This record gives sequence, C-alpha cells and structure tokens, in this order.
Amino acid sequence: MSRILVLYTGGTIGMDHTPEGLAPAPGLLPRLLQRFERPGLAFDVIEFEQLIDSSAVTPRQWNQIIDALVSRYPDYDGFVVIHGTDTMAYTASVLSFALQGLSKPVVLTGAQLPLVHPRSDGWANLADALEAACQPDLNEVAIAFDRLLLRGNRARKLDAERFDGFNSPNAEPLAQFAIHAHWRRERWLKPEGEWRPTRINENLKLAALMLTPGHGSALAGMALQAGGLDGAILLAYGSGNAPADPVLLSGIEAMKARGCPVLTLTQVMKGAVEVGAYAASQPLARAGAWPGGDLTPEAALGKLQVLLSGSVAGEALREAMSRALRGEMTV
Ligand code: ASP
Repeated sequence: MSRILVLYTGGTIGMDHTPEGLAPAPGLLPRLLQRFERPGLAFDVIEFEQLIDSSAVTPRQWNQIIDALVSRYPDYDGFVVIHGTDTMAYTASVLSFALQGLSKPVVLTGAQLPLVHPRSDGWANLADALEAACQPDLNEVAIAFDRLLLRGNRARKLDAERFDGFNSPNAEPLAQFAIHAHWRRERWLKPEGEWRPTRINENLKLAALMLTPGHGSALAGMALQAGGLDGAILLAYGSGNAPADPVLLSGIEAMKARGCPVLTLTQVMKGAVEVGAYAASQPLARAGAWPGGDLTPEAALGKLQVLLSGSVAGEALREAMSRALRGEMTV
C-alpha cells in the first residue's frame, strides 16, 4: 500500500469556466481526484486556502508547500504537488534545494487544459505523477508532464500551447510513460545525508537580467549598481559571452564589493557557459561574475534563493554554486 499526500496549490488543471475566464474552483479538483482511488493506493488531498494562478507565486507559497510537506513527511511514502505550469519549474527548483536529504518522491504536475475540458491533458499527468510518487527509490523532486518524468531543477516550460509543455534541454528524462512506465533508474539521484529541509527567506531580492544588443547591457549594469539586489543572474549570449560594457562591468564589481553573487548563464535553450571558449566571455568573469554552466535560470534562482536563505556566503557560496548539489548541472 502506497500512501501519497497531494498538495493542491492552484493552476489551470483545477480551474473552471467563469464569466471572467478560467479561474481556480475550490473543491473541484479534490472531487475529481476520487477517480484515482484504487486498491494499493491511499491518498489524502490538501487544498491550499488560496488557490492561485501560478504566475502569482512568491516565496510565501514556497514556504507553505515546504511547511505542508515537512510537517507530514513521516506519514507518507510520496508527495504530489499540483501546480500551475507557468512557474512550475521555479517551484520545482526551489523545492529540490530546500528539501535537503530528501528520500521520498516529490512530483509536481499540472495541465495545459483544465480537467473539466473534454480534451484535458490533466488526467494523464495526474496518473503519471501518482505512479511516480509511489516509487520508493525516487529520492528527488520531479515534474510529470505529457508522458515524461523530468528532474525538477532541469525542467523548463517550453511550450504554452502544445501538451508537451515541458522538457529538460540539458538532461535526459527520468522516465517515459507509454503502455509501460519506462523508469530510467540509473539517472535517479541517490539519497544524500540526513533530512534537513530549510525554509526560504521571503525578503531576498534576486533578479534575472537578460542582456540585449544596444543599451541592454548597460541597463543590466544599472540594475546591479542600484544596490537593492541580494543576487542576480545575467542571461548572456551563446556560451556566456557579453560586450565589455563599462556600466555592466562596474555593476558586477559593485555587487562583488557588497558580497552579493552574480552568475552568468546563457540565454540559449541548450548548452553551457564556458569561460574562455571566446575572448568575449572573459570580461564578465574578470569583473567577478561566476559561470553558471548549464543551469537553467529557474534552477539558478532557486539555488541562490535557498543557499542565501541559509546564509551561505563568500567562498562557500561560490563553491556550492560551481557543483551539482541535486543533479541540477552537468559538471
Ligand atoms: N496560468 C496557469 C498557471 O500557471 C497556467 C497553467 O497552469 O497551465 O497557473
């Protein structure tokens, strides 16, 4: 018998038609979930008081999910988090780092079409998420979507129209669901260390700044110099290249002087930052930005969010950002 806790936070999957358009419908999803009752599976559903469109997610909701999960952790074999697709990759990333020492499955899912729609993709996504949450050796945070199980901190929402809305461009899936479930256990994380979940500091100010030709780099530099940020990621070009814009570089130096991390990522969907592949990658690194490898922006922000919440700083932060803590980057 597998005991699963389902946390329902909102998202399209449980929405219903209203005169204003689709909106969360309290009570609807827990009712529809009864369809998954079967021998060998027992699940409880917690519907969050405020069901949200996930575009409105904040660190407060992340803490609510962490608290709900942590307080019931010993009572269940696995967890399913039902979440809107818009920010599912951010939440999955945050959870993957916050739930240190996780030794049970935490599987996020949602849908592109609500369950009340006759062609909803939600039924299959829920079925796959529940199945994955019953695997006792899945020690990680994953996303089940359109017949794929993806590592949560590698996943990205890549399509707002098709049912294959998610993929993990720099990592192979953890499973594929067809007539049989094809579990790729050799890719799964091993349980690591003791269970030491952490909450998120809700006051941290992190930004993702995308460099664009023309004034874009200077504008990013101004945001860094303004002094309000605790950390930032720069979405540079290709393998981590950027113009040697003096405003951008002094912005990075100002962050460094305040002890605040700046990470260079690529705005390309696939591939990694590689300092030295091009001369144009050097100025950012010399100014003090750390190369983020093939981290997704969602994973980089989630990792910074959790490490900074735990007051990891200086060399320890740099070291933690340069290696994979939860399978989030290729080293
Ligand atoms: N706007 C919705 C949300 O993220 C989209 C979805 O769930 O598919 O909550």
